[in-house]
Amino acid sequence: MLGSLRSIVQEVNTARDLPSALDIIVRRVRDVMQTKVCSVYLRDKHSGNYVLMATEGLNQDAVGQVHMAPGEGLVGNVATREEPINLEHAEAHPAYQYFPATGEERFSAFLGTPIIHHRNVLGVLVVQQAERRRFDEGEEAFLVTLSAQLAGVIAHAEATGALATMGQQRNEAKFAGLAASPGIAIGRAHIVAPPANLATVPFACSMDVDAELALFQQALAAARSEIREVGERLKNDLNKEERALFDAYISMLDDSSIAVEVCERIRQKLTASRAWAEVMLEHVRRFEAMSDSYFRDRAADVRDLGARVLMHLRQQEQSQRDYPANTILIGEELTASVLAEVPREKLAGLVSVKGSSNSHVAILARAMGVPAVMGAQELPWEQVDGVDMIVDGYRGDLHLQPGPELRRHYEAIVAEERELARNLDHLAKLPGETADGHRVRLWVNTGLMADVVRSLERGAEGVGLYRTEVPFLLRDRFPSEEEQREIYHEQLAAFAPRPVTMRTLDIGGDKALTYFPIEETNPFLGWRGIRVTLDHPEIFLGQVRAMMKASLGLDNLRIMLPMITGVSEVEAARKLVNRAYDELIDEGYAIKRPPLGIMIEVPSAVYQARELAKRVDFISVGSNDLTQYLLAVDRNNSRVASIYHSFHPSVLQALLQVVTACHETSTKIGICGELAGDPGGALLLVAMGYDVLSMNATNLPRVKAALREVNKSDLDRLLQQILTMESPEQIEEKLHGYLQDLGIGGLVQPQKAEASSDS
Ligand code: PEP
Ligand code: MG
Repeated sequence: MLGSLRSIVQEVNTARDLPSALDIIVRRVRDVMQTKVCSVYLRDKHSGNYVLMATEGLNQDAVGQVHMAPGEGLVGNVATREEPINLEHAEAHPAYQYFPATGEERFSAFLGTPIIHHRNVLGVLVVQQAERRRFDEGEEAFLVTLSAQLAGVIAHAEATGALATMGQQRNEAKFAGLAASPGIAIGRAHIVAPPANLATVPFACSMDVDAELALFQQALAAARSEIREVGERLKNDLNKEERALFDAYISMLDDSSIAVEVCERIRQKLTASRAWAEVMLEHVRRFEAMSDSYFRDRAADVRDLGARVLMHLRQQEQSQRDYPANTILIGEELTASVLAEVPREKLAGLVSVKGSSNSHVAILARAMGVPAVMGAQELPWEQVDGVDMIVDGYRGDLHLQPGPELRRHYEAIVAEERELARNLDHLAKLPGETADGHRVRLWVNTGLMADVVRSLERGAEGVGLYRTEVPFLLRDRFPSEEEQREIYHEQLAAFAPRPVTMRTLDIGGDKALTYFPIEETNPFLGWRGIRVTLDHPEIFLGQVRAMMKASLGLDNLRIMLPMITGVSEVEAARKLVNRAYDELIDEGYAIKRPPLGIMIEVPSAVYQARELAKRVDFISVGSNDLTQYLLAVDRNNSRVASIYHSFHPSVLQALLQVVTACHETSTKIGICGELAGDPGGALLLVAMGYDVLSMNATNLPRVKAALREVNKSDLDRLLQQILTMESPEQIEEKLHGYLQDLGIGGLVQPQKAEASSDS
């Protein structure tokens, strides 16, 4: 059964469109289960009815004609009950409804299972038999498993279908994702695909056939000479068979039939990379289907060769690519490093199929003020290159091919945003304090050089978190000590005399360096942050030396350690920092010993906050990770993003526990997670007693504006009420209402964006 299940899902996955996917499903399921009938009913988005979309066994004329409302007939009942119905004699069931067009009176046994995707009933899968018999447990379990597996594929095919129709009729199409960075981007999609994966080359056309043909020939030539070169270099290390592989590669590249097929598709206006990927994947599949294991193994070689040529094609395409104004980058899994690919003034928005608003790329997007939507799982991203679109970073919506009315609506929000930003400009010079004079340090989180200017313009009083991994992510090797010193000096000098908190390298989790891969099944619970750098003292020492050297003459450096789980890590790291400091003093650097602090972002550190606080000069809470670890929700996984709540009562209790421990030990306490940049969150943190709130530069004016509207004594009362609440939703609603009552609800998002209906 498992083999059949896999092969059905695989075959459905290769279908070109929704109708062919459904045809495959009904044909294969009927064969595998040896039933007389298999049918699929899908919910019509407009009427909400379940419509017969494909069948093997019922009259074909009935397709598209049979409609059932939820709760109506057996199919409608399967949908509303959200569980299978298994009947020996369907006609005897009170809900049975007869549709003459189907000819189903001939069938007695009925088994229907719901197709559910993300809690939504997309449709119903039905098998029927002529004789009266109940489908056995194994059959029922098989259909349930298959429906669950097919749900995602059907949802994707439905979305792709919506897009195809849109292309013909210039209709709008809307896809939902997760709001990851506020703001509206109106622009054109540009796909970022992994460079050498044949399966993810976007479908794209080019009118310049000659240029594409030339590109293809250049890529072939480049791949040929590369293979020859590698073969030559390894000549003495390879045996005869291994050497023959290189010859086989070359002769495959010389194979004129492959080239002819590719050129043919290019002439039909496909881009060279898409044409190449299609042809090579067909060859791969042909090899994979062969019964001889020798030939089956060759499929991997063909794939490898295909990827090599593709890499050259994409490199050339990339170097020729000119990013237009208002580029919206789209990818299956955007990473922090792609942000450097497009000049900032051309980058309007970001869309990623995977990831959530807490992924690091989303955090950087917020810091840069670039609207972003993550976790857009239904978006057929491979097919939207060059399509006009709107990214609604407030609601997490994507609008493709927006019509004039929708455009006008969003242009009005953009205008309102600009107005709001202008109104907040004057705050830059005013102190961060409540209306009754309670002073709070409003600092910024930085990573890119671009953050510096924006932060200073917005009146940042210091840097609470400089993510040193960002410059590491944008390179293809570890930066040297001197290179690091220069980068750090730029940061320190730009903000001096204001304090700059530099965090030691925090890689692992969703921050992977291409040149230092960490492959783990559970990366957020694995080798991350301080664990990596304590295991590699040479990296740690080089980094803290570079930081301290960079602070020469400025003395505004603070060093902060990420992912601390216990006192021994702090002690080990302090020893190394002291050693680096002593060495530099011996080398003649007249520098002040920088304060050393830690991040609290792991539950164990919350419970040991007092012991940790006694050992350091300051503490900063990393609420992004703390939320992830307290709630056991992967911050990067869009599937569980709806249960990632920084306002969860347990998170608030943890934040309170840390601030209390710091006050009792007279340790400076701040917070640098995203919660600090949320106006409502910031007010709660001030009430709890956090002295430093560090956030992205984009949010700083909003937080300052909110702070200056309120009295500390009122906030204390608000906090007491909130601490009695039992759910994050209740807390969010209370905060939302509080800001609205103060007349500053618009600080969170423009009123128009908030009021916009589900268009
Ligand atoms: C955090 O975890 O809250 C934090 C600020 O660090 P990062 O988001 O870089 O993991
Ligand atoms: Mg963190």
